[in-house]
Amino acid sequence: MPKPPGSPYPTFLAQLGIELTNRCNLACVQCLRTDLNNPPLDFPFDLLESLILQAKPFGVNHMAFTGGEPTLYPRFLDVIDLLAKYGWGYHFVTNGSKFPDMLPDLLVPHRWAAFQGVAFSLDGATEETHDRNRGKGSYLQVMKAMSLCAAKGVPYSLQMVVNQWNRHELEAMALLASHLQASRLFYTYLQPTPAGVDAGLCLTPPEWKQVGEEVDRLMATFKVTILKSAGHYYPHPLYQCQTMQFQSFNINYQGEFTFCCQLSGFNDQGLSAKNSRDFVADLKVTPFADAYQHFVKMVHGLNAYKAEKVAKGDFRFIDSFPCHFCERYFGKLDWMKDHADHPWAPSTDPAHLPA
Ligand code: SF4
Ligand code: SF4
Repeated sequence: MPKPPGSPYPTFLAQLGIELTNRCNLACVQCLRTDLNNPPLDFPFDLLESLILQAKPFGVNHMAFTGGEPTLYPRFLDVIDLLAKYGWGYHFVTNGSKFPDMLPDLLVPHRWAAFQGVAFSLDGATEETHDRNRGKGSYLQVMKAMSLCAAKGVPYSLQMVVNQWNRHELEAMALLASHLQASRLFYTYLQPTPAGVDAGLCLTPPEWKQVGEEVDRLMATFKVTILKSAGHYYPHPLYQCQTMQFQSFNINYQGEFTFCCQLSGFNDQGLSAKNSRDFVADLKVTPFADAYQHFVKMVHGLNAYKAEKVAKGDFRFIDSFPCHFCERYFGKLDWMKDHADHPWAPSTDPAHLPA
């Protein structure tokens, strides 16, 4: 991000990541959520304005929307109007299914002023690969949305969740992103879930390391901006992702502040986040300032735990995948005890050590 003209300080963006709804019109094999549409629940609209006012003193001025499928939120346009009223920006991640219909409403001047981007989930460079994971017809939907963006000059990103089914299409995806004039292409880490493990979707840790190296090569080759999500192999023990740099605060569709979007609702069968170790606070009853202070302590706790492992000489190859480290720390992989032989199983197996 460029520095604002005349400012002696580097730009520091902080955002609220809002899960607007648990509604979704797809049923992707790799989805980490087990609570979609069951029953359909939406973010309490009245809480949004209160959060804007509470988070503003902390320098927050942006919202990032996820879901479920955020465009299924019944008051999506009212949310954008609210952000426009307060001069906040927004971007959202979508499967693209509703985008063509809603684009004219997003291009209205006051809403367009708040728009800072849209990211489309595209899990294969070919229809066959994408639809295998996301369902028949979903590739054509997202291609239509991207083509519209290219035609109208709307900046957009692509997000590819890398898995066993699409791993061979990394370069094809970069070619497609260039051809379709995407602003950015993210190669995103796939979390091991029971459904993903059963379907054989998950790459092993060494395979992920190879994917990272291949993406590095693509970054150097292609003009389109290519980025790796936080979950990729990153061997530096002190690495801090955007969340742990206090730049992103995740709030689920129940108005609960949870540690990170990558962990939120992870295989939780729709149970309240309050039962989960990554729960920070219920913002319906806890002021954002108090929740933030608790979050700071939780980040410190995670870092202290990591430091302890490093000091004991126990920081392993598998610990170099930051999201995986969090998943284990917050108990999201406890179900893997029944998959003791799986490459991502929480285990002290020496096979997890670097060769
Ligand atoms: S991955 Fe996204 S689009 Fe797919 S089922 Fe899950 S929430 Fe819906
Ligand atoms: S799971 Fe952990 S490492 Fe991954 S993005 Fe979230 S906080 Fe960061």
